[in-house]
Amino acid sequence: MINDFKVKIVDNYKFYSFSTEKAEIVFSTNVNGIDFKKDTEEGKRFLSMIPKWFNVEKVLYLNQIHSNNILRDPEDVVDGDGIITNSKKIAIGVFGADCTPIIVVNKNNGTIGVVHSGWKGTLNGILTECIQKINNDLDSKESEIEVFIGPHARKCCYEVSYELINDFNSKEIYKGKINDKRMLDLTECIKLQLQALGVKEENIHDIGKCTICNDEFYSYRRDKDLSGRNFAFVYLK
Ligand SMILES: [Zn+2]
Repeated sequence: MINDFKVKIVDNYKFYSFSTEKAEIVFSTNVNGIDFKKDTEEGKRFLSMIPKWFNVEKVLYLNQIHSNNILRDPEDVVDGDGIITNSKKIAIGVFGADCTPIIVVNKNNGTIGVVHSGWKGTLNGILTECIQKINNDLDSKESEIEVFIGPHARKCCYEVSYELINDFNSKEIYKGKINDKRMLDLTECIKLQLQALGVKEENIHDIGKCTICNDEFYSYRRDKDLSGRNFAFVYLK
């Protein structure tokens, strides 16, 4: 696990970013009120700033529904929870306020993906599906994959029901490894998916921040309906 994220300030707003040879990975914060809740005027305005701020042509995002739907270059804002592309200078992103944003980059052929993996997406393995889709549709291999795990509800704070813990433990991949009593470890679930796929440990980069106990991020658990949305995105340079 390597954490080499850097703080990037744009127009007084704080982001965490990670630069690879081909791609730029970005996680937003809530510092100075930046909010990507896409159904609000403010959210739309901040989304519309991304092309200018990051020198991309456009930004693609979805109506997230906790599904396992992954779209390649969606032309519209449609239902789904993951996007993949190999187009340059197109930002693809997901919103969240506790759910895990995960970005996937193929180091060699320059293909990228992003998924929104809350408890449901994690239980159903949306990250695994995303990496398989990148491999099938865009001719990529697990050994070339780099993964970036963004801010999300972590085991320090993420208490869930025993029913949900049991749902996770009923999956062979997670059994006995992903909880301390009712504290669910989504980060470990994600690492277990990556391990099963053969993604190398040195290619996994975790920002290591929890949205619930770190107040520079939005958290639905902490702020309830008042919570704004974080935005995680990636683009090919
Ligand atoms: Zn925490």
